[in-house]
Amino acid sequence: MPILTASRGIEAYDVRKPPPGQRTEAPRAESGSGPGQRSRPGGAPEGARSGIFASCANRGCNSGWLKLWRSRSGPVFEGGWSCSAACTEAQVEAGLSREMDARGAAEESHRHRIPLGLAMLEQGWITGAQLRGAIEAQRAAGGGRLGQWLVRQQGVSEQLVTRALGLQWSCPVLGMELHDAEALTALLPRLFVDAFGALPLRVAAGKILYMGFEARLDPVVALAVERMTGLRVESGLVQESLFRPAHLRMLNAKFPAVELIEACSEQALAQALSRRVEQVRPQESRLVRMHDCLWLRMWMRPQKGPVPEVASVQDLICSLRPH
Ligand SMILES: [Zn+2]
Repeated sequence: MPILTASRGIEAYDVRKPPPGQRTEAPRAESGSGPGQRSRPGGAPEGARSGIFASCANRGCNSGWLKLWRSRSGPVFEGGWSCSAACTEAQVEAGLSREMDARGAAEESHRHRIPLGLAMLEQGWITGAQLRGAIEAQRAAGGGRLGQWLVRQQGVSEQLVTRALGLQWSCPVLGMELHDAEALTALLPRLFVDAFGALPLRVAAGKILYMGFEARLDPVVALAVERMTGLRVESGLVQESLFRPAHLRMLNAKFPAVELIEACSEQALAQALSRRVEQVRPQESRLVRMHDCLWLRMWMRPQKGPVPEVASVQDLICSLRPH
């Protein structure tokens, strides 16, 4: 374990503030959990401070190096330990502005999709009369998805409609066999499962998360979950009659503790979030944006498998109040 060597002694400040790109050279245990890297959260941050000198992750940190002798366990934000509340706030603030700047970047691409009815007509799965009938019914009712009208009113099979949606979105149609809702609730907060209709289906090989959606994919949600969990998310559509009951089952299962925060400015939000990080002192925490919400997750214990234990993580969901 690297202790204070002669050269390190002279370069004590360098130990504290490793140059960009060499952050892992400081005496931290092998962690591999730096921000941006896909890794299992909480696996190593404990070890990240095993050297006598831990290096504060805040590049603008101006604590004297002697201060770093203090024993201060956690908190860790995005793989980096911070030496003081001020440094935690700086780290959270940087993470927050990164997420806010990225707004729009991950939004759904507006590539042209063939309308569902036309796609089905082209495949010969419905007749022109069925399509006209469904469109008329949709118009008369003032809404509802065309696929639903085709099923309910025109007797088209639900499997075919889901297959057509899959073609439309260029994604697979996923099955619901052996869906264990209870085992997957720690992958994302209940609020997101509910609001965005994202249903974790299963984890394959400890690396891939199959995520089901009912009528349309949500690439923003998929990307956020991917960044938060470190799992590769494969999105697909699930037949409505299978999706609905499974979705309901999941909403009724036990999820990790969650706290909702609303703030009036980005700065106020950064303060509120870093205060919580300081209080909880998580072994790891990460921040991602999901549509208009920011999701901060804190790991109380290192995560052992691909899915955290429900009681080992705490979520904060935040929104910015419009002025
Ligand atoms: Zn610091």
